[in-house]
Amino acid sequence: MAKAVTPKKPTKAASAPARGATKNAAPVKVASTKALAAKKAAPAKTAPAKKAPAAKPAPDARPLIVIDPGHGGIDNGTRAASGEMEKTIVLEFSLMLRDKIEKTGKYRVVMTRTDDTFVALGDRVQFARGRQASLFISIHADALRRREGDAQGATVYTLSERASDARAARLAEAENQADAIAGLDLSSQEKDVAGILIDLARRETKTFSLQFAQGLVGQLKNAARLHQHPLKSAAFVVLKAPDVPSILVELGYVTNKADLKSLISAEWRDRTADSIVQAVDTFFTTRLAGARQN
Ligand code: ZN
Repeated sequence: MAKAVTPKKPTKAASAPARGATKNAAPVKVASTKALAAKKAAPAKTAPAKKAPAAKPAPDARPLIVIDPGHGGIDNGTRAASGEMEKTIVLEFSLMLRDKIEKTGKYRVVMTRTDDTFVALGDRVQFARGRQASLFISIHADALRRREGDAQGATVYTLSERASDARAARLAEAENQADAIAGLDLSSQEKDVAGILIDLARRETKTFSLQFAQGLVGQLKNAARLHQHPLKSAAFVVLKAPDVPSILVELGYVTNKADLKSLISAEWRDRTADSIVQAVDTFFTTRLAGARQN
């Protein structure tokens, strides 16, 4: 911006003073479209003392984070015996997390839903891809069926076609049912984009996803109780963006008494959300430092 562009054709300079302008030639005539736009934005009459504002603020270059509260609308997700629903727990948690991340001033945050509406899994992925998000965080709360016994603690999942264990595979299957619950056709969803570039992107994305997941587990353990094996992977549809590092957090089990108590506790949410913000910060600090070295 500091460098003056040397115009090849001097006649083109829009900023040239209206040298030969006759008295009745309004200055508007020589104004560039940019200047016109600026004029439109701030009519001279209302603020005569002020200089014309800079035409347009620079586009916001801060990393964009997508928070994805699981389920919504017709899809309740898991449900505690006492009636608390996953879709509500994760929405409340996500809203708090959004506010905390925004408060740092370092990131832009958008959510796939901010109220009790249904959002298809593929749309969640597209939402992040279309905005070229730098990170996708899906928030869920797990449940065990009675015959599966009891489990507790938070788990962080990354994408993998082969699940890390049978339970992770079943969980992904259950989470992937969201669209079917709303009667959506699943067959059109597996239109995977192919190509070498996509493969490369996917590999890099996988590395970043894992990096964030590991960092997140490290932070979460200071704030919340973790599952016995807190880092797992499975074929979650919602994590399939080839170009957006994506992870899914199961905050805890609504079927576990102590977990449920945490999940609905303002204090626990506050602490846990703080630890996620910390992990986000570490992830981007490391990533940006790495980018500068290249
Ligand atoms: Zn869920």
